[in-house]
Amino acid sequence: MAEAPEFGLFVDGRWSAPPGARRFETRNPANGESMGSFVSGTPEDVRAAVGAAAKAFPAWRDTPAPKRGEILLRVAAEYRARKEEIGRIVSREMGKVLSEGRGDVQEAIDFVEYMAGEGRRLAGETVPSELRSKFCLTVRQPKGVVACITPWNFPTAIPNWKIAAALICGNTVVFKPASNTARCAVEVVKAYEAAGVPPGVLNLVTGPGGSVGNALVDDPRVRSISFTGGVETGREVYVRGAKRLAMVHLELGGKNPVLLMEDADLTLALDGVLFGAFGTSGQRCTATSRLILHEAVYDRFLDLLLKRLERFPVGDPLDPKVEMGPVASADQEQKILEYIRIGRSEGATLRTGGEKLTGGAFDRGYFIAPTVFETRPGSRLATEEIFGPVLSVLKVRDYEEGVRVANEVPYGLSSSIYTRDVNRAFRAIQDLEAGITYVNAPTIGAEVQLPFGGIKNTGNGGREAGSAAIEEFTEIKTVFVDFSSKLQKAQIDPVAP
Ligand code: NDP
Repeated sequence: MAEAPEFGLFVDGRWSAPPGARRFETRNPANGESMGSFVSGTPEDVRAAVGAAAKAFPAWRDTPAPKRGEILLRVAAEYRARKEEIGRIVSREMGKVLSEGRGDVQEAIDFVEYMAGEGRRLAGETVPSELRSKFCLTVRQPKGVVACITPWNFPTAIPNWKIAAALICGNTVVFKPASNTARCAVEVVKAYEAAGVPPGVLNLVTGPGGSVGNALVDDPRVRSISFTGGVETGREVYVRGAKRLAMVHLELGGKNPVLLMEDADLTLALDGVLFGAFGTSGQRCTATSRLILHEAVYDRFLDLLLKRLERFPVGDPLDPKVEMGPVASADQEQKILEYIRIGRSEGATLRTGGEKLTGGAFDRGYFIAPTVFETRPGSRLATEEIFGPVLSVLKVRDYEEGVRVANEVPYGLSSSIYTRDVNRAFRAIQDLEAGITYVNAPTIGAEVQLPFGGIKNTGNGGREAGSAAIEEFTEIKTVFVDFSSKLQKAQIDPVAP
């Protein structure tokens, strides 16, 4: 087998590996192919990266935002030129099918271009003063050094959601990617390097969440932490950051429902549920993990779904005929199989799948059959995030019960309703407890120009993407300009009408 290509850390504009550094490898979850060897960063590496980012900050902050935008446009052009190549790396390292690997890169391109445009907006507000000859406005200022900590499931899109938004606002960044997808992270950073981002503005430290992540979260020079990942890690990062009053933005898990009503277009819904539940092998924070089915169409829809799953191609993610690749790692496989055991033990009815796929090429990777359980509200299967190709189906009598079931989980990221009744669709937009609601579309499919995030345990109130991303990475300064040439006292001086 060919030797794994070696990659270093990217600090202060240079790729380097500290002498004697420990290393780790990432592997293709479909066949074990090595994707590269990476430095297992240490707290000292983090300190150096934060130091470089702190040093680069004043000049980057003072670079006009439209100029920062021009660099981002070059980043997007790099991704565009290398889309096929990077898309393949995404599929090989993370396991999503090639169309989705390309889609991951396309989302990065879309977002970086969108943020480049923000360089000509970064809008504040102007409002009237209660005094004469006084001007009141707000301006946006960068926060300083920010840490971007990202998961493996969108290994080029999510890092760019954070990095491009942080940079356009004038922050400098230390990026700590998921260890599973370190190669994708290297490709993400290479585009910024090629685009001419000045040294220290973007730094990459690979290595374990425990040591690299903690060192980043603890460093007093890091003003803000943008984290996407699981609830338990997110809670740890939040609490740790809170101890030193760092700003922490969290995007966490989901348990997203499709509410399928008796008047739905079942053919349309079938495609949506299949894509929502089994796209990216169910490893999307917005994956459809619960199908809440009206009793009038319950048997009919379930039959349609199971029939389609009889010929749902699972296999090598680079094969264009395949619709679902492997899950991302051995740990993922174990966790998902454990949930399948839990489902069985709590009395859910397994309708299809429920096992690791074996034999032939399957033996070289982590493949799980698309799995459907009929289960009941309140069960662990129907409540906890599985993050795999496991769909829980729940039967309800009517819309009201459907909404109750949809809302009785601790998460609130995405949601969907299939109905032809426009009144009911608008009621669902009001009633579903989630940051995102789709009507007649699955729970997945975010677009970068709109805010993304959730309520309840899905996060702590912020939003990524869209213009909302600017909120995450700027501080607001309020400015009063008094041009009256005298002392004027708000709330005290009388002002004649
Ligand atoms: P994890 O929470 O395990 O890891 C996320 C990131 O945090 C990784 O880079 C990880 O590094 C790092 N990390 C681990 N421990 C610490 C620590 N103590 N301090 C700081 N950083 C740490 O999540 P996964 O990577 O497994 O991602 C899956 C999760 O992400 C799912 O729950 C999913 O729902 C959620 N997600 C949410 C999204 C949203 O926008 N709401 C979008 C996509 C995913 P390392 O890899 O080295 O362990």
